[in-house]
Amino acid sequence: MAAEQFDLIVVGGGPAGSSLAAFVAQQGHRVLLLEKEKFPRYQIGESLLPSTVQGICKLLGVYEEIHQAGFTTKNGGTLKWGRSPEPWTFNFRDTPLLGGAFGRGYAFQVERAKFDNILLQNAKRKGAVVREQQTVRGVIEENGRVVGLRYEDETGQPREVRGRYVADASGNTGTLYTHVGERVWSKFFRNLAIFAYWRGGKRLPAPNQGNILTAAFKEGWFWYIPLTHNSDLTSVGAVVPVESADRIRELGHEKAYLEFIRQSPIISEYLANAQRIEDHELYGKIRIRRDWSYMNSRFWRPGMVLLGDTACFVDPLLSSGVHLATYSALLASRSINTFLRGEVNEERCMEEYEKRYRKEYGVFYDFLLSFYDMEQEVESYFWAARKVINTEEKANEQFIRLVAGSTSAHEFFQDREGIGSRMAETHRETDDAPKPDDIIDGYHDVRSQILAQANQGDQRPREKPMFPGGLVATDDGFRWMEHPIELSSE
Ligand code: FAD
Repeated sequence: MAAEQFDLIVVGGGPAGSSLAAFVAQQGHRVLLLEKEKFPRYQIGESLLPSTVQGICKLLGVYEEIHQAGFTTKNGGTLKWGRSPEPWTFNFRDTPLLGGAFGRGYAFQVERAKFDNILLQNAKRKGAVVREQQTVRGVIEENGRVVGLRYEDETGQPREVRGRYVADASGNTGTLYTHVGERVWSKFFRNLAIFAYWRGGKRLPAPNQGNILTAAFKEGWFWYIPLTHNSDLTSVGAVVPVESADRIRELGHEKAYLEFIRQSPIISEYLANAQRIEDHELYGKIRIRRDWSYMNSRFWRPGMVLLGDTACFVDPLLSSGVHLATYSALLASRSINTFLRGEVNEERCMEEYEKRYRKEYGVFYDFLLSFYDMEQEVESYFWAARKVINTEEKANEQFIRLVAGSTSAHEFFQDREGIGSRMAETHRETDDAPKPDDIIDGYHDVRSQILAQANQGDQRPREKPMFPGGLVATDDGFRWMEHPIELSSE
């Protein structure tokens, strides 16, 4: 029997895979999405950013649905971080872009099982064929080009499928990325996370009750995410250096986790009357995830592209994972839609994708460096090793080249000495306090483009190319085209 044939085959139904499948299927292409699990399934990564909620979710057509799902509204973040003895709060609505032109500066804290299922069902509604419990095992290559996939169906039967394009969105556990390039690790963010769920966790005082609470302690930092409006469900995780793994193993997960909580006065206080959930299918256990940051040496090869976590991952402190995953899906969909229509050649489409996704990763990498570099009141191994001035990343040429282009790692870090003190100044509540935009190049560019496409559609001002000679989004924002001014000046 001849193998089935699609225009695009997507591996993985997380936020990256289902967003891509929807964005390509809604242009009339034949899309197959293969997902290993049966949804709804558990995933970590619960605190979203406004660019996802106000931008990508609108573009996907799920804006109303996520507003009706009962997720907690997240107006910003409250941090026990840096030298300030008191927690400080930032609100998304105070950033000129989110609070100004597009009005709605909030995101959501989401149970990923629910959120990811909304996106997956939406991909189906947009016309993608979605098959769950199908495990992709390998790629089919012909003459150096990826032309399909081998997978096992729900009965364990081996199958093959062919596609004009293959997209790997299988997340951090997938292995298909090895067909495209090599995973290169950061030496700055080498942490692991140990996390669980609580019933009865306290909420921050109004109006910050939906905020993520982030608290530094001697051995790392905590997230405290209110997943429900009442105190029924709170996600609490400690991020600690990877060197703690042996101690966690010796003590056992439960003891080690509770010991970290004891070290943080604010997290202990918020959990004082709470019980750890032990009797729930999704939330009843203590989990550990190595959350080292990495970037793949290439994001595409002929016939195949990587997106979301399979292409790159950067430390969870700033809740950037779902934003990067869904933004990469928007970018990759432009490249694939354009390529499938034969409007621009594959190399140009895919290079545009890869450069833009790397650039956005770089914005978060910089932002994270500045946060980790902020002076913490406690002197400790963890924080000392995460000062820009001390970092081993200064000799990590391969990784820094991938993040920052041609700059040498030494120059890159020389430019960033003191970045933590400069970022600490941004939460001074005076008019002359610097803004993150003054410190991080391109901080607002991408978010403003996503929000403009979602809110103004083809009425938005024409974007300029992000790179010299680069492509720009079409009026509808779902394909690439040559920049008209560049063409007329040739
Ligand atoms: P995933 O969500 O991992 O989806 C991949 C899908 O592919 C899965 O459904 C999987 O079952 C499927 N799959 C895998 N292999 C195969 C195969 N062989 N065949 C078929 N299907 C396959 N992000 C945030 O935005 N906010 C946060 O607060 C946040 N906190 C985090 C905390 C920690 C400790 C960590 C480690 C990450 C956190 N993240 C956070 C990041 C977030 O989890 C990820 O960035 C995000 O889930 C990436 O989405 P994705 O679609 O690329 O991959």
